[in-house]
Amino acid sequence: MHCVVVGGGLAGLASAVWLAEAGHRVTLLERRGSLGGRTISMPLAAVDDVPDNGQHVFASGYTDLMRYLESVGTREHVCFPGHMTFRMPGGATRRSAFAGIPGLRAAFGDLPGVTGRDRWRTARAQARLIRQALRQPTWLDDVTADEWFRRIGMPQTARDALWDGIVIGLTGDKPTISSAKVPADLLVTGIRRARASRAPISIGYPTVDLDTLFVDSAQKTFAESGVDVRYRAVVGSVAVVDGTVAGVTLKDGERITADAVVCAVPVWNVKGLLDQVPGHERIYEAVDALTPVPIVSVNLYLDRSIGMADWGEVLLGGEGVLEQVWDRQRMHGRDASRTHFYSTTVSASYDLIGKSNTEITDVQMDMLRRFYPDARDARVVHSHVVRMPRSTFAQRPGTAGIRPEQRTAVKGLALAGDWTRTDWTTTMEGACQSAARAVDVILEYAGART
Ligand SMILES: Cc1cc2nc3c(=O)[nH]c(=O)nc-3n(C[C@H](O)[C@H](O)[C@H](O)COP(=O)(O)OP(=O)(O)OC[C@H]3O[C@@H](n4cnc5c(N)ncnc54)[C@H](O)[C@@H]3O)c2cc1C
Repeated sequence: MHCVVVGGGLAGLASAVWLAEAGHRVTLLERRGSLGGRTISMPLAAVDDVPDNGQHVFASGYTDLMRYLESVGTREHVCFPGHMTFRMPGGATRRSAFAGIPGLRAAFGDLPGVTGRDRWRTARAQARLIRQALRQPTWLDDVTADEWFRRIGMPQTARDALWDGIVIGLTGDKPTISSAKVPADLLVTGIRRARASRAPISIGYPTVDLDTLFVDSAQKTFAESGVDVRYRAVVGSVAVVDGTVAGVTLKDGERITADAVVCAVPVWNVKGLLDQVPGHERIYEAVDALTPVPIVSVNLYLDRSIGMADWGEVLLGGEGVLEQVWDRQRMHGRDASRTHFYSTTVSASYDLIGKSNTEITDVQMDMLRRFYPDARDARVVHSHVVRMPRSTFAQRPGTAGIRPEQRTAVKGLALAGDWTRTDWTTTMEGACQSAARAVDVILEYAGART
């Protein structure tokens, strides 16, 4: 079949790679001049470096993403060190391992800054949380994660130390905004994956830039398998004839015929594309329900080391955002005596995103100086601010079930993208799992045609 894939982010790249692997002729249409969507590198001539648009961390349960990396030959560039570090203002640190004794200690409420009776309260609340995630009460999608924590009696100290950060990290948004059902579902996914692999979930990172990891490798695969990639090809609509997909029409009026189409655009770009699809109104409801969440990342080139203890550190400030610092020397195997490149990420950065580059850099440097004694006299050699107002999406209470299936009412048409229904939220794994499911739909259709 001739398969058209719309959108060259991870969901579209994985769909194109796997459809080509299955022996189909593939055309990939991307509206920008380059591939990668929300996972890209941004070459910086000023410092002769290739930083990313924001640090992307991996979880060991990311099986479809790993399958994509296997397909394009870059699996070896992801590393799972099995620990991260929490850091308090002033510089005190605590290494958090995801398994063994440290994991057990955390389960019993032994978290940084959690003392006295709060430890016991934390242990009890955590047990309730796991129980309610596995056997969900009917009201879970009616309340925010914030309200859920209150109902199960999670102490504020434990929220500051761990749980608010987990909610922002897992759901992309603040506990006061995200539905409680989203972190609960993700915990269940994590528990299931950990059981299946008989290993606890751990966090990992790429040891190369995102273009090398995802995009250059895909382009090489496309060249080998004859996938035709068209850049600046903006799809305006998917064409449907008698309940079967017929192709797509570009915004400039060009028509491209196809036997099958995977529509892998982000949620905020889908309105209008599917007007000919029966039931598109229901799909478009997701556009209004899933609201964009900003992430601000800063690539900081300093004149000295700030003395990080780990590859990635979570800063415990209790400011309602998740602040993380990444040691790119350690992560990319650079000479730490010569380069001092740190990358900071502020998730759910509603306040920060409106500030100027200088203000954002100042805020980040002030933060580093508060947490890292060695950063006090550090000078910024170069600062590169990346604002992504539409990084991820928030799922507010009352939106359970709003994310559409990959299968549509149209034969030969499947949806993909992190916003379609998966076991995950707005993640790289969600994008790749959606691609795997979309490709299954198309391959089933191909089988039925023969
Ligand atoms: C700063 C940042 C940090 C993140 N951190 C993490 C993390 O640590 N871990 C994690 O798992 N996830 C993380 N994410 C989320 C993850 O990057 C996304 O969930 C994932 O990349 C989404 O992939 P996608 O293919 O669904 O969408 P996208 O990457 O958005 O790709 C969609 C593509 O479709 C194209 N397109 C749109 N409209 C059209 C059209 N009409 N015609 C043709 N093409 C079109 C777009 O240009 C784009 O290339 C982060 C995201 C950001 C921005």
